[in-house]
Amino acid sequence: MTQSNSVRRLFGPQTALLAILLLADCARLSRRAEDLRRYEFTEPQMGVPFRIVLYAPDHPAAVEASRAAFARIQQLNDILSDYDTDSELSRLSQTAASGRAVQLGPELWFVLQRSQKLAQQTAGAFDVTVGPVVSLWRKARREKRLPDPAKLAAAMSAVGYQKLRLDPKRHTAELLGPHMRLDLGAIAKGYAADEAINILRSKGVRRALVSGGGDMAAGDPPPGKKGWHVEVAPLDAPNAPPARFVWLANAGLATSGDLFQHLEIDGKRYSHIVDPHTGVGLTDHSLVAVIAPDGITADSLATAVSVLGPEKGLRLIEATRGAAVHIVRMPAWRIETTESGRFRTDN
Ligand code: ADP
Ligand code: MG
Repeated sequence: MTQSNSVRRLFGPQTALLAILLLADCARLSRRAEDLRRYEFTEPQMGVPFRIVLYAPDHPAAVEASRAAFARIQQLNDILSDYDTDSELSRLSQTAASGRAVQLGPELWFVLQRSQKLAQQTAGAFDVTVGPVVSLWRKARREKRLPDPAKLAAAMSAVGYQKLRLDPKRHTAELLGPHMRLDLGAIAKGYAADEAINILRSKGVRRALVSGGGDMAAGDPPPGKKGWHVEVAPLDAPNAPPARFVWLANAGLATSGDLFQHLEIDGKRYSHIVDPHTGVGLTDHSLVAVIAPDGITADSLATAVSVLGPEKGLRLIEATRGAAVHIVRMPAWRIETTESGRFRTDN
């Protein structure tokens, strides 16, 4: 059947029937909002437990939707992981200084161009070329010993977002310097959470919350609620302000800091977030929570603000549409809290 034939058929005598069926469907769906039940699933993904909370009419529907969402996260891990030496990202890193520009798939292209935009905006405070330095700090954490200064200097010479060249016309990437290594640890989980929400929505599940470590994306709220009531982790210090709660709907929330991952030597604590200008793990003991229109924006901004500090960080947030931030820091023994206007008024 040709397309115009099928269109004509749609507008034939069946149109009225179709309209009635659509109306009936709408009524069924809105009645269903109260019939929906809450389901929760957790799977290890991207090195952290990924959790999906969703509302669905029954268990089989919930299982089917969550399976599809986890499969998407797994697929993204296979593309974006820097641990997996066979991922698309690792294969790109292996072409460093080869003089070759590599054609990228849509997901890697999307994440890299978002990364480079933020790198430019933050003058390199957020920089996915930190790979060589991050791997030294990972080793330091395992061995509980600070990285060797000579090795750190060598690794630093392979860092710099200007050495990652993207071609927006052909969707290619080229790594201009030797030993460069990309690391999407500060942005991939937020993106994966967004994609999981999209998959759930395509399966008819709109009321859902996906979180992986400190990164989260929310779809529509639970039935009858204005949002998902989510706790922002408090700074793990004595006298830290009590936990904050926020209402999240169709938005992302990310928490970055040295709470879960750090190295402690001689009483000094080094975060797994590195200042790309010095190659050193952050030591100001901070917790940054960002709300943004989606997970990828929240995740990347939370890391960027951690590096930038409260003053420049706040300016970055205020320049980003739909973003809000809550920063708790303890640079010495005093706790400082900074919040953007929207974080205070919306919650
Ligand atoms: P988490 O992994 O706890 O969610 P982040 O989103 O802040 O925390 O990401 C931290 C990870 O990002 C590090 O483990 C490292 O892989 C990478 N990274 C560290 N420093 C930077 C930086 N300045 N810019 C971009 N990525 C970074
Ligand atoms: Mg992040």
